[in-house]
Amino acid sequence: MTGRTRAASRRSRTTAALLPWSVPLALVGASATLGVEGCAPPPTAVQGQATDCASRAHDDPWTPPAGAESDPDWATLIDNALYPAELPDLTGCPAPATAATMSGLEAQATRQLDCVQDAWRPLLESAGLDAAEIPLHVYPGEHADTPCGTISCPAVYCAEDGGGIWLGEASLDSATWFALGIKGVVNHEYAHHLQSLIGVLDAQHRIGATSESVRRVELQATCLGYAMIAHDDRVADHLDLVESSDPLLGSLLADDVHGSRDSVAQWALTGLDARTLGDCNTWLAAAGAVS
Ligand SMILES: [Zn+2]
Repeated sequence: MTGRTRAASRRSRTTAALLPWSVPLALVGASATLGVEGCAPPPTAVQGQATDCASRAHDDPWTPPAGAESDPDWATLIDNALYPAELPDLTGCPAPATAATMSGLEAQATRQLDCVQDAWRPLLESAGLDAAEIPLHVYPGEHADTPCGTISCPAVYCAEDGGGIWLGEASLDSATWFALGIKGVVNHEYAHHLQSLIGVLDAQHRIGATSESVRRVELQATCLGYAMIAHDDRVADHLDLVESSDPLLGSLLADDVHGSRDSVAQWALTGLDARTLGDCNTWLAAAGAVS
């Protein structure tokens, strides 16, 4: 069954059943949703380059300026050249599974990232983008040094030095019992790498990191992360995992960085049904859809 077919089959499912995925996917979202606090912002010099570890941004109103289409940065966000590209199918990924130890987390996350990078490589190469693999780092405790500065988040993508993903010990909070948690977080963080490659992160940084533009970045990554779930042929037979995770909903908290429950659910559903990168274009959505 194709990802498209699987996604369509899920449309009848309730939003609530889909929401728990946002916990591992939204990652620091996860930090907020699972009550893991203490996410330190990256150094000022690299703000906009490190995702999932951002401090609350300014509450400036977000409005695309008149003539935004002719501005290179706005054009990158709202009409990216890669948006028409079809999403690749993920084949050969590991089966959904929990992890009880850091070594188990590292092993499964590495396998998932290998699979994700294999899937995206042809598209990146054909588009003339850097298809070099990015590393995944797992760190114990609460802090890690990255090219984006010292972080204290469950998971972070840092775009510096070609990009990299960091998963902290707090990632085990969901990985120990939620079998889609590892796939979710790896997919979400790799989606940030895609945003880096196609210029979205730099463009968003240049137009100004308001809280709304940060949410548009995060919800776009959430959407793409769910799209990768939908295109993963190892997930199709495990939809029961989604339905069995309802208890997580009770711990889901609103998050100013990753979006409200309604917005996360909206873009999760959009991702499950996405066929192209542009289907996850949050940059033309009404403000209410990225609250
Ligand atoms: Zn994120």
